[in-house]
Amino acid sequence: MSNINPLTAFYNEKYEKQPQEYPGIQKEMKPIPDSGEDTYQGSNKLTGKKALITGGDSGIGRAAAIAYAKEGADVAINYLVAEQEDAEDVKRAIEEAGQKCVLIPGDLRDKAFPKSMVKEAHKALGGLDILVLNAGMQQYEYDIQNLSEESLRDTFEVNVFSGVTAVQEALNYLEAGSSIIFTSSIQGVKPSSHLIDYAMTKSCNISITKSLAAQLGEKGIRVNCVAPGPVWTPLQICGGQPQDKIPEFGKNQPLQRAGQPVELADIYVLLASDNASFITGQVYGATGGAPIN
Ligand code: NAD
Ligand code: MG
Repeated sequence: MSNINPLTAFYNEKYEKQPQEYPGIQKEMKPIPDSGEDTYQGSNKLTGKKALITGGDSGIGRAAAIAYAKEGADVAINYLVAEQEDAEDVKRAIEEAGQKCVLIPGDLRDKAFPKSMVKEAHKALGGLDILVLNAGMQQYEYDIQNLSEESLRDTFEVNVFSGVTAVQEALNYLEAGSSIIFTSSIQGVKPSSHLIDYAMTKSCNISITKSLAAQLGEKGIRVNCVAPGPVWTPLQICGGQPQDKIPEFGKNQPLQRAGQPVELADIYVLLASDNASFITGQVYGATGGAPIN
């Protein structure tokens, strides 16, 4: 078996500037992010499990959704109505893997939606074992004086509050052996000045992972968190970064490139699987080298 060089294993050239409107469409990106459609290989690690993934239409959530299906899980994904075409592509990939896919479009900023989303996923899948709270909103702003109340609230609604209410509803269904996974960020521990509100929310994701793992340990429900570094996804090109940062995106990491979503898939699979039976309250980094602890 030969080694794969992490410097050259995936796209490592400069990116073109390519502004899109929020929330962005994956299939219109150049290059199209690799969410594992052809590159992830499953080996029955999640046979028979049922998962709900927010932001499952694109980027990291899509990589988790496709990997889960290839590992034998049925998957429900949530996304915004504007992302329907990306969601349809994920559905196709999940069905090609021989699993069921349930599409649940809806806006996590709507107060009643997170609970109804979980209810619908549980009903349509006929159970729920894995809840991946991965949807995220990131809009850069260099000056706190220009941070609008609306944008601040939106970021907290999507990245923090909706996850709390989704968990509250999910606890009606999750049994011992179930797994909750948050997606935080390197920003949760090493905040950039132009991502002030986003970075706050990503610290919250780490905090709730630890407190909730402590609360739910006695129920046998595990809670963990993934903290990515720079990963090539729609979030970054639709206001997540200024366009002048896009060409060099990820280049300042020790591994000298941005990651592709599929490179995080194995962490989401491990944390969801029975192989992680002694793992809870943990934060897993995949950053290209920046330490998260
Ligand atoms: P992405 O754009 O592919 O996924 C984000 C998803 O969030 C969107 O697809 C959308 O469906 C969902 N979303 C946003 N606002 C929503 C709303 N109001 N209601 C419902 N859904 C909404 O980008 P991604 O980078 O894969 O993001 C996934 C997670 O990874 C996010 O939590 C993000 O903070 C985190 N993250 C990304 C990076 C990176 O470099 N890409 C780094 C660290 C952390
Ligand atoms: Mg998307």
